Amino acid sequence: MSALLFDYLRFFDTTLRDGEQTPGVTLNPEQKFEIACALADIGVHVVEAGSAAASEGEIAAIRRITEAGLDIECCTYVRALEHDIDLAADAGADSIHLVVPVSDLHIREKLRKDREQIRTMALSAVEYAKDRGLIVELSGEDASRADQEFLSSLFQEGVEHGADRLCFCDTVGLLTPERTAEVIPELLFAPLSIHCHNDLGFALANTVTALKAGASCAHVTVNGLGERAGNTPLEELVMSMEVLYGVSTGIVTEQIYSLSTLVSRLTGIALPANKAIVGSMAFTHESGIHAHGIMRNAKTYEPIAPERVGRKRRIVLGKHSGSASVQASLQELGYAVNAEQLAAIVKRIKALGDEGKRITDADLMTIADAVLQIECAPVLNLRQFTVVSGNRSIPTASVTMAVNGKEITGASTGNGPVDAVIRALRDTVSAVGDISLEDYHVSAIEGGTDALVDVTVKLCKDGKFITSRGARTDIITASVEAVVAGMNHLLREDDEKRG
Ligand code: MN
Repeated sequence: MSALLFDYLRFFDTTLRDGEQTPGVTLNPEQKFEIACALADIGVHVVEAGSAAASEGEIAAIRRITEAGLDIECCTYVRALEHDIDLAADAGADSIHLVVPVSDLHIREKLRKDREQIRTMALSAVEYAKDRGLIVELSGEDASRADQEFLSSLFQEGVEHGADRLCFCDTVGLLTPERTAEVIPELLFAPLSIHCHNDLGFALANTVTALKAGASCAHVTVNGLGERAGNTPLEELVMSMEVLYGVSTGIVTEQIYSLSTLVSRLTGIALPANKAIVGSMAFTHESGIHAHGIMRNAKTYEPIAPERVGRKRRIVLGKHSGSASVQASLQELGYAVNAEQLAAIVKRIKALGDEGKRITDADLMTIADAVLQIECAPVLNLRQFTVVSGNRSIPTASVTMAVNGKEITGASTGNGPVDAVIRALRDTVSAVGDISLEDYHVSAIEGGTDALVDVTVKLCKDGKFITSRGARTDIITASVEAVVAGMNHLLREDDEKRG
């Protein structure tokens, strides 16, 4: 492929090192192992598992990954110190990311040394690591602010002393694509990696430019995690190379979304809704014109098919919705409507949307029932619920509901009061249906402890999904309201007449 100077692009994932340096993120060895397995499965070539010198836990994580014999090179971050290199080798790492500061700012201010001292340290570290049998990636920290002659000579000598690969680190995200195109071709003494940060939003562009200029490996993180504004996101780079540059990356793109959600869950860093590729809105359409186009030909408003990254298209209803998307949603829920009924339903949806409400399936069904004058006695009527929670008690809930007119009480414990009450609700209705909770989302409208809490749930029964909402100042009541509303819609008779 002409877009790149080489025929094999490698991905070096540093989610477990630079990504873990995201403020507030810590991963234990088991969690690191789980992510490393997913990275190996998706086809990433190198995993930077951590820094052996940082802690015992880091060493345990590196061991856990290397001993499992995953199909991935296990790399660890080291400084130019024999102590760090010994720890990496003893933990069984395949390779080291040997990071040496190269800008005068870092050399003088951080290490209180001069360029020649750094050169000596770096070269002897390379030799020492080669003696210990490690693959060495010699990395210039803050390379974008370094004297280019010094960097070039250091890299050249590094390779002469045994370094297998080199890495250009734009440590604080100051590269531009223009500058990248200029500096990279001067440094190709060995396979070169590019490590970019996203402080000004240029990480992806700089990485792509470096690859086009001769770098053959990209440092990336899942979801773009990393110090400050993060690193080049794996998912964005892979899909850009595939879609825009026609490069076969060898990455199993269909696993991108599951990898992304795994990392988000284990790191506790939620994804921005509008994040490219993996954000909740990346394949969601509301506007009438767009949704209509999408239903005729998805290519009209989707640059890539959602299935390609393991996702599904979502059409949501709101004030921007046109009748085509409302009709499609109604059909999915089993309603057949005429033009007049459809117009009435669209009007009510727009009115709800104008109030700033997200329209759930349950909302649409309630509106449709009203317009079609379907009288439908709810299967479930909540009589009472009680929740006990505290710092010395196991969260416990009991629920009494009239199920088809018969009173049933259920109870459950949970890992929190909301969990306990939802389990109790499921227990109560288990006689009439096995309903699972697929998704639970809570947002507080305005700040403060007295804010209105908006709970949206996605429930499933026999492969049928439904979303519903509850909004109260009390999070437990809002959750109960959302779940009972959704259950009621799922439990309606299948043969019931809907228009
Ligand atoms: Mn970094």
